Amino acid sequence: MILPVYLLGNNVLREQTQDLDGNSDEIQRLIDDMIETMHAAQGIGLAAPQIGRNERIFVVDVSPMENEFQEADISMPPQPMVFINAQIVDESEDESEYEEGCLSIPDIHEVVVRPESLTMRYLDRDFQPHEHTFDGVLARVIQHEYDHVEGVLFIDHLTAFKRRLLKRRLEEIKDGQTAAEYIVHARDKGPIHPTSD
Ligand code: ZN
Repeated sequence: MILPVYLLGNNVLREQTQDLDGNSDEIQRLIDDMIETMHAAQGIGLAAPQIGRNERIFVVDVSPMENEFQEADISMPPQPMVFINAQIVDESEDESEYEEGCLSIPDIHEVVVRPESLTMRYLDRDFQPHEHTFDGVLARVIQHEYDHVEGVLFIDHLTAFKRRLLKRRLEEIKDGQTAAEYIVHARDKGPIHPTSD
């Protein structure tokens, strides 16, 4: 089931998430819904707060970025990937720049500096434990989604000057004024369907 994507301004995007205790049919349904919602919105990652939930879970599907993997000569693990109860155990000192966007902050794309690689401990959707080092595009997407389960958004990484320049646009997004081509959930308005013309 495709779920509305919560926009900037909804408190749930700023709240700490809870670890999952164990697997259940409900959790598996939630994961399926998150993947379906991510694909419908043409996103490459989606975290539970973005659909109004405070569980520590995010999904990633970087398959549209196959070119970047080929250019960097990195093999792509099977997609989509599911990260439950994720914790970062190490980050590289080397940093990289990359232009990011977010389904919860439509139409805004800004360069963000982050560690080039990181090591993460997490459970997959079968609740099997993994500890793995990610780099390149995957490290980038995973850090963006990990931020979401910590209540952090990519705009928090921008300079105060840059945020000031975006302020008006961000206020419009909080108010539900967006050209997003997927169902969104605005703070004071609830679900908003894309306008078709
Ligand atoms: Zn995001």
